[in-house]
Amino acid sequence: MEFNDYRGKWESQVKNSNICKKCNGKSLCLSVCPSYSVDYVELARSNENSLLGRIRCVCNGYSRNKDIRFSASTGGFVHELCKTLLDNKKIDGVISITHDHGLEYSPKILTDIHLMPNSIYHNINFQNTITLLKKAEGKYLLIGLPCQITSIELFLRKRKYAHLKEKIYAKVSLICGYSFDRKNAKAFAHYNNFDLEEISYRERGRYRKTRLKNKSSGLLFEVFNPKNFRERINNMIFFDQFLPQLGCLYCIDHICYCADIVVGDAWQKRYSDDDIGTNIIICRTEKGEDLISQMESFKFEKGYQEEIIEAQSPAYALGTIGEGMKRVKLKGHYFIPERRRTDNLSDIQRYRFKFKDLIKIKIIKNLLRSERFDAARSLYLFLNLKMVVRYFLRKLIKRG
Ligand SMILES: Cc1cc2nc3c(=O)[nH]c(=O)nc-3n(C[C@H](O)[C@H](O)[C@H](O)COP(=O)(O)OP(=O)(O)OC[C@H]3O[C@@H](n4cnc5c(N)ncnc54)[C@H](O)[C@@H]3O)c2cc1C
Repeated sequence: MEFNDYRGKWESQVKNSNICKKCNGKSLCLSVCPSYSVDYVELARSNENSLLGRIRCVCNGYSRNKDIRFSASTGGFVHELCKTLLDNKKIDGVISITHDHGLEYSPKILTDIHLMPNSIYHNINFQNTITLLKKAEGKYLLIGLPCQITSIELFLRKRKYAHLKEKIYAKVSLICGYSFDRKNAKAFAHYNNFDLEEISYRERGRYRKTRLKNKSSGLLFEVFNPKNFRERINNMIFFDQFLPQLGCLYCIDHICYCADIVVGDAWQKRYSDDDIGTNIIICRTEKGEDLISQMESFKFEKGYQEEIIEAQSPAYALGTIGEGMKRVKLKGHYFIPERRRTDNLSDIQRYRFKFKDLIKIKIIKNLLRSERFDAARSLYLFLNLKMVVRYFLRKLIKRG
């Protein structure tokens, strides 16, 4: 993995093409790549529950410790699980990302949960996990995003590395819609005239707040409740579903098929009054079920499979946006499923892939990469002209 300045992200590079010659077309690197032709049914060793993968139980809940719940990304499930397993000496440590410097995070072996950050929405280099597993003795809880967990799983299926599998006590994946490269964060800082050194995404409660930091100051933005139109547009560009890392657009593994436990936000209606944070938890294996049964410091409520769809929308939960993107053609029909909230598993709405989505992917993304942030925002505003006009008309009417 090398850092690509132009794209603002860590990505794989072929450094020594002699290895490719040795491999003789067997594509060893691609065989562990989570975005290349992965058979997810085989990976999960299950075709149960159709696109949701194998599921033993679904539940919702939050930490009984108010501080942990309020300060964690969602309901504090990951922090509480790590704490339980460490306190009960079931594991020798947790493999979690921690902060290095600036925007950089990397996986380490931890025994202090206070070093674990909240959700980091920009691209992380996860490759150190393999080195950690090779060097360490003992058993570890592995925490990561679906693509990270999947690549580790594929790697450990190689005979040569199979022995490392025993060191993983269990695999916990976050639900992941998509993540960004660093150019989105840089653009956001530029729009706010801020000299960005660090960033955090989910502070204080359910409705995430983004904080930009440098040595002398900090700026806090409420993503769900922008103060003015400018803030709203800047937030929209930052978190736009068509401006993530491009590989994320093709992902179908948002609810990690090969993890023991998958955890995300319980966005379903029945928690709409909650403003602190509640997790949705999917247990895929017996191990996963056993782990949650040990968590006395976490309040569990019964959940249902249908709630995964309701909480995440079909596009995430069923990975259909990725399936759709694979079918995108430059001419003819552009079909991708709409990211609409629905309670109904069979209610997967499809819509004609809009020209404006393609402009975001093809043009605005490139403007962001080449750091022409103002041009990117102008074009973005132009694409959302209807919204701009509606906003100002409403304001005029209110005044009148
Ligand atoms: C990029 C990204 C996209 C997400 N998209 C969705 C979504 O669409 N829907 C949804 O319901 N939930 C999504 N989540 C998950 C959600 O933000 C919470 O992480 C999840 O609900 C767990 O909350 P918690 O309170 O239990 O976590 P915490 O107790 O706060 O623990 C979070 C832990 O997760 C790990 N972690 C955080 N970020 C990363 C990262 N980038 N790479 C590897 N490990 C990491 C670290 O170990 C961290 O300590 C996403 C998270 C990320 C990072």
